[in-house]
Amino acid sequence: MRLLLKPDRMFAEVAFPLPLPKPFIYRVPPGMSGVSVGSRVLAPFGPRRMTGVVTALRQDAAGVGQTKDLLASLDALPSVSAELFDLVRWMADYYVCSWGEVFRVMMPAGMLSANPARTRVERRIRFAPAWRHEKAVDVLRTELRGPRQIAVIESLAGYVAEGLQEPRQADLLARAGAASPTLRSLVQRGVLEIVEAEAIRAGVIDAGEAGALPERTLHPAQADALHAVSACIDAKRFHTFLLHGVTGSGKTEVYIEALKQTIRRGRTGIVLVPEIALTPQIVRRFRAHFGSRIAVFHSGMSAGERFDTWLLLRAGRFDAVVGPRSAVLAPLSNLGLLVVDEEHGQSYKQQNPAPRYHARDVAVMRARMNEAVCILGSATPSLESHYNAQRGKYTFLSLPERARRSADKPVSLPDVRIIDLRGTASSTSLSPWLEDAIGQRLARSEQVILLQNRRGYAPLPECVRCGWSPECEDCSITMVFHKSGYRLRCHYCGRTAPLREHCANCGEASIEAFGTGTQRVEEDLETRFPEARIVRMDLDTTSAKDAHEVLLRRFEEGHADILVGTQMVAKGFDFERVTLVGVINADIGLLLPDFRAEERAYQLLSQVAGRAGRASLPGEVVIQTRNPDRPVLRYARDHDYETFAARQLAERRALCYPPFGRMAGIAFRGPRARDVADLARRWTDALRKEAAGAQVMGPEEAFISRVKKQYRYHSMVKCRRGDRISLQKALRTVEEGMGSLPAGCRVNIDIDPVGFF
Ligand code: ADP
Ligand code: ZN
Ligand code: ZN
Repeated sequence: MRLLLKPDRMFAEVAFPLPLPKPFIYRVPPGMSGVSVGSRVLAPFGPRRMTGVVTALRQDAAGVGQTKDLLASLDALPSVSAELFDLVRWMADYYVCSWGEVFRVMMPAGMLSANPARTRVERRIRFAPAWRHEKAVDVLRTELRGPRQIAVIESLAGYVAEGLQEPRQADLLARAGAASPTLRSLVQRGVLEIVEAEAIRAGVIDAGEAGALPERTLHPAQADALHAVSACIDAKRFHTFLLHGVTGSGKTEVYIEALKQTIRRGRTGIVLVPEIALTPQIVRRFRAHFGSRIAVFHSGMSAGERFDTWLLLRAGRFDAVVGPRSAVLAPLSNLGLLVVDEEHGQSYKQQNPAPRYHARDVAVMRARMNEAVCILGSATPSLESHYNAQRGKYTFLSLPERARRSADKPVSLPDVRIIDLRGTASSTSLSPWLEDAIGQRLARSEQVILLQNRRGYAPLPECVRCGWSPECEDCSITMVFHKSGYRLRCHYCGRTAPLREHCANCGEASIEAFGTGTQRVEEDLETRFPEARIVRMDLDTTSAKDAHEVLLRRFEEGHADILVGTQMVAKGFDFERVTLVGVINADIGLLLPDFRAEERAYQLLSQVAGRAGRASLPGEVVIQTRNPDRPVLRYARDHDYETFAARQLAERRALCYPPFGRMAGIAFRGPRARDVADLARRWTDALRKEAAGAQVMGPEEAFISRVKKQYRYHSMVKCRRGDRISLQKALRTVEEGMGSLPAGCRVNIDIDPVGFF
């Protein structure tokens, strides 16, 4: 990859981590070394200095005019490998963003700052291949004459005996009491070799040891799935599998075996999990199998730890990495396997800032570029993946039953009961049926999980006389009442305000709080079951570092009877004693103006239901609703994903929604309403002209028209599958043709958007 050019005539194209359409060109000053494609450089940028990545080297800068000189070269070895470079190019094209924006998510913070960390190489010493046998030191003792040379050899043998094959040159010389001429003569004689490697701080490898593992044989469905996957791993052939299995069916076991197979073949793997704080168990299982050969990215890591782990990954010190979304861009070479667990998860889609990429789709693309295998696993596959499996693009693998823990007792899916809340008084969040079911569990010392997908106490304060409700001053959204401190809080920007008794509109003391948040459910439980030990898990109780783990562990270890919370409680935990799951209000989320609302409701319901009865005790699920006739509830109750998916796909086909059509969202933001509305209109009109054949909708004021003092407008585009590339080109053309935007305004392009309104 290094180009050897005459130094006085070398120019570098540099991409900065900003939304700039084109790279900038600089002269590489004579004598500056290490500047190559993929390496970081420091360059003058207006009045500032910035770190960027070299995207190309060239011998002339014709037509560019005056070029400035680079200030410094920051990498001893290129930061971005050729393989990742191809991926960056694809992502920038596909997601209509700049290369630099992709580099920004790919690299750890600090690497692209104005004050960047430098990497350097250091010299390490090892025996030449001819001298790596057992008798080598004895033979050398007789052959070599100088006592210093013998001291160096013996010291190196000492390192090898301790398990360190390649000590640093400086360390070795210090230990041997020798100097570099001695070393040089040993290298010249062919006894030793010098290797250059990137210098990395020691001590960052998590000493997580492989734990004791239960002996298990894969059940037949698991074995079949693994067999299909292994065939592609062995053949080094790109292929994507959709592993469909209810929670507890043994998918993770298949991932682990596939990764072992990959590593045995000398290749590496990436395992993506939706939110690592919510999936400590899956991480523990990978650790138990792979020990310190596996790196884990998690939110509790310091910037320094992240940085070091990244360097170690790049240096090839790990066989695999487990992490959330951005781990799909981890710098592993020789990739053989990419796993996306819970592939339907919304957290795989980055919202802000750009690139607004979908890690699942990037994983499939990266697998393709590496002739690697990709496994997408889910109990409720996204309709996009389901459709891809249907039309044969992915191979469908199914684990139809829950894994058996003992030979004689199959674990069955829980019974689901739908409770019609219509006509019941709403003085409590617990219906008599649910209350009764909870009471039974407490009496048997079993555990209960309750989902209420809304935090706070009573979310909707309103004047019962005139209907006025308090809105956040910066966002056009009703504030939510939190009982702690008796305050209102905006769930968009965090602003708080006191709850006033008197209506700001009509002046009456008639403000009441309606609706039910997690705090309210907790209080109802305390009233009804004063002896029960309750853990509440939502954004308000988990903001502190490690709070998730602490709360979950308390529940897991049996120090609590009831876990109540938002969708966080639905994630992949595996608690043996949970036999009841209650959904307090299944209607939340169903009424949003989003074509994926039903899909999401199905996923959430079946996911939380999957928490019940995971081991030997049978489980029960109670779903409370005021819309008991909605089909999605029936499908969730019957665990009938197939029919649900078929119905949804038929609807989407009729309306040309994904996966049949392609969509893009364009968001306009800015501090002045007029400017934003104007910009949105100009932009959208230009797109209408440019994107022939696509259906352009908007602009419209966003569903929540102001957030954090920023006015918001949206437009949407829909096109046929086959027109995707021309749509992406049209978006780029319009963006580049728009010139500079009104003060403070931004335009965000979102390809394949999820959850927009
Ligand atoms: P999923 O990832 O689909 O939720 P897991 O792989 O976590 O499923 O398996 C569910 C539970 O069943 C786990 O506790 C796991 O250890 C156990 N299990 C999985 N496969 C087997 C097997 N073949 N034999 C015995 N136990 C298994
Ligand atoms: Zn706000
Ligand atoms: Zn009023």
